Amino acid sequence: MLIAGGGIAGMAAGFAVARAGWQATVFERALEFSEVGAGVQLGPNVTRILQAWGLGDALKQVAAFPAGLHARSMSTGEVLATLPVKDASRTYGAPYVTLHRADLHGLLLQAAVHEGVQVHSDAVVQKVSQSADDAVFDVMQHAQLQQHIAPLAVAADGVWSPLRQQLLGDGLPSFTGHIAYRALVAQADLPPHLRSQDVSVWMGSQTHVVSYPVRGGEYLNVVCLAEGRLLDDDANSLQALQTWNAKKSEAQTLAELHHALRGACVPLTDLMSACSDWRLWPLCGSPAMQDAREHAQGRVALVGDAAHPMLPYLAQGAGMAMEDAYELAAQLLGATPANAPERLQQFAHVRWQRNARVQARAVRNGQIFHATGAMRMGRDMGLRLMGARLMDVPWLYGYR
Ligand SMILES: Cc1cc2nc3c(=O)[nH]c(=O)nc-3n(C[C@H](O)[C@H](O)[C@H](O)COP(=O)(O)OP(=O)(O)OC[C@H]3O[C@@H](n4cnc5c(N)ncnc54)[C@H](O)[C@@H]3O)c2cc1C
Repeated sequence: MLIAGGGIAGMAAGFAVARAGWQATVFERALEFSEVGAGVQLGPNVTRILQAWGLGDALKQVAAFPAGLHARSMSTGEVLATLPVKDASRTYGAPYVTLHRADLHGLLLQAAVHEGVQVHSDAVVQKVSQSADDAVFDVMQHAQLQQHIAPLAVAADGVWSPLRQQLLGDGLPSFTGHIAYRALVAQADLPPHLRSQDVSVWMGSQTHVVSYPVRGGEYLNVVCLAEGRLLDDDANSLQALQTWNAKKSEAQTLAELHHALRGACVPLTDLMSACSDWRLWPLCGSPAMQDAREHAQGRVALVGDAAHPMLPYLAQGAGMAMEDAYELAAQLLGATPANAPERLQQFAHVRWQRNARVQARAVRNGQIFHATGAMRMGRDMGLRLMGARLMDVPWLYGYR
């Protein structure tokens, strides 16, 4: 199996199908396999899969295990509701964890290589094509164009997936108007009252801040998600949307954060002031999946953000990529090159509605987190009254 993209989706897919008996080769265009510095939360729907893959112990080495998810008012700091997640193993059969993306990626890469997956960096998949019997990648590797042929291929090339455009031609994602500003701070550098081993979501007007521990709890990952604007030039520039901020000065980034956090309570502004080296990530997205075609085309499957880019407001993009990998491998177990396209169809039918639901719920969460006026008051009242019942997502966490 040929896999384009060596991010979380590509690595998880390579590892999972190798376990199911398929020879997998991953092509990554970057010069090195790595992940940008930021955190991810993984719900029990995902950690259950990592445990089933035999990676539970490796996860324990790098993850933090928060006791609760706190929904807080940005203006007063009040905890409006808490979802206790320390008992997720009892309720859902697997833990709720937070970790550094590089740690998750490293764990998957190591497991994939151990399972016999071939991994190539500096390898750009330029074209995907297929015949009745094979899938073909044209790969520019170390400045040489080579063709690779296999019974199946996977597009795991991310939100800007060039392969998706070749297969579906349904247009590139667009800028949502939301920007994520991200920073990591060592807990040891924070005054004791700002340190935390829990997840906090501080909700303001058209802005929210999420903080949670990573690197086994040694660092706090802090993300401010604001409805903002890129520089006018950048809003139309694909390159600016595809890369981490290179243009904005620190002063400008701080001014934008200051604006997004106007009216925030002192503990939150203190926390934000303790962070430095902010990175900026413009959030881009597409409408929710419409049908199974977006997951499989003949001998080519699409997984992760290439299939279903989503806003990070349900913290499930990487999670859905791993669910995709798990299901792909389950469908391909015992398959032959001849019946593999049918199995890809099965995979697509099993996955697309769940991914569409998660995409839609992430959009809705954003509206709730960023509510203003009467809607905001209703939200806060609802959280105070109903607490964890409003925050729990059994259909999501209880998957499989
Ligand atoms: C602010 C923010 C917070 C988030 N928080 C969470 C969270 O808490 N929990 C969660 O589960 N998810 C979270 N996510 C989502 C998660 O990060 C993504 O859904 C996930 O990383 C997608 O992985 P991927 O492998 O599909 O795509 P990517 O990580 O984009 O990987 C795609 C890879 O393909 C490579 N590539 C592209 N084109 C080619 C080509 N032509 N040839 C070869 N290689 C190519 C790229 O270099 C890249 O390495 C968050 C996202 C954001 C923006």
